[in-house]
Amino acid sequence: HAILSNRLAAARPSATGAVSELARRLAAEGRSIISLSEGELDFDTPAHIQYAAIKGIIGGQTRYTSVGGTPALKAAIQRKFRDDNDLDYQPSEIIAATGAKQLLFNALLATLNQGDEALVIAPFWVSYTEMVQIADGTPVVITPPAGDHFKLTPDLLAAHITPNTRWLILNAPCNPSGALYSREELAALADVVRKHPRILVLSDDIYEKILYEGSFTSFAQAAPDLKDRVLTINGVSKSHAMTGWRLGYAGGPAWLIKGMELLQSQSTSNPSSVSQAAATAALDGPQEFLDDWRDRLRVRRDTALSILAQTPLLSISRPPAAFYLFADCGKAIGLRTPQGQVIGSDLDLARYLLEEAGVAVVPGTAFGLAPYLRLAFALSDERLKLACERIVAACGQLA
Ligand code: PLP
Repeated sequence: HAILSNRLAAARPSATGAVSELARRLAAEGRSIISLSEGELDFDTPAHIQYAAIKGIIGGQTRYTSVGGTPALKAAIQRKFRDDNDLDYQPSEIIAATGAKQLLFNALLATLNQGDEALVIAPFWVSYTEMVQIADGTPVVITPPAGDHFKLTPDLLAAHITPNTRWLILNAPCNPSGALYSREELAALADVVRKHPRILVLSDDIYEKILYEGSFTSFAQAAPDLKDRVLTINGVSKSHAMTGWRLGYAGGPAWLIKGMELLQSQSTSNPSSVSQAAATAALDGPQEFLDDWRDRLRVRRDTALSILAQTPLLSISRPPAAFYLFADCGKAIGLRTPQGQVIGSDLDLARYLLEEAGVAVVPGTAFGLAPYLRLAFALSDERLKLACERIVAACGQLA
């Protein structure tokens, strides 16, 4: 009787979650563990957003709402897209959900049939390929060269398109590489997409606000004529330190939004009413705190890079956005630990760093590219410094 569906046969649990789990277990055993594996800011949700949620609770915003979000939240999202991204979405073209994750899942489930392909650019956020598979689609992974942060080029894109291609999944700023595309680069990709009317583009903009250099352009903004084939996904998790509130939002063609809403209506219904009240305040309220957050994150990025430069085993390019370092650890492969074990892969190196140095990182394998390590730098300066020093020392013990 214990047989899971075919749908789940190929799906893997979140690899980032597995590392965090092992780190928690070692910490529970009393070990000093510093986690560089979490994909979230250590900052608190700003106070005005907390108060909006409390006000929402006391004011009775504690009941079911429209499946796709309250009118107030949709108005805030509409404004956000217009002011930040030059994108004009009507309320029927907007949906809020329980995190960007649910939007991605519902969009893929609503559109993929067996045999349909979704293009995913490596290194990629761990869930894209798994979600495509669960939705009966086939992930087609494109791996651009490492130079220039693994950015997709028009030629590479064109070479991977087949009659079965249904989605191009773009994520910029990218988790894990930090890649950021200019308006011109997006326009050049759009030139390829334009030639293939069946292809939809999913633009995962969740790290839009975590930017150290350059400026952000959303895909539909760079190719306004393709707007009806683009799903623009965003959320408050990373922009307002609200990962636990579970609130994401999307703009797209009404037919697609309707399909996603149908799925949502038969599964989870509306995202939490309290989180909607909070997210409305987040989008409508002051955004100045972000400058301070960015400054602090930039310092952390540069501190981590300068400490990690002391080990020749890691080679890291400076990410222009997001809060991750994606480190090439190829020089560590084949070396031996003081106990004589061979580091055969980035998984081995991640385990060694966790067990020997007490630092949790995620192996690049989880993001479809080895041998690499992803190190999140969204934690306090002191702990980040200590973690990087421990990594350098542990790498120094490999021979
Ligand atoms: N997209 C990317 C690229 C992410 O890194 C994450 C979270 O780590 C998500 C989407 C999911 O965000 P949410 O918390 O809104 O579900």
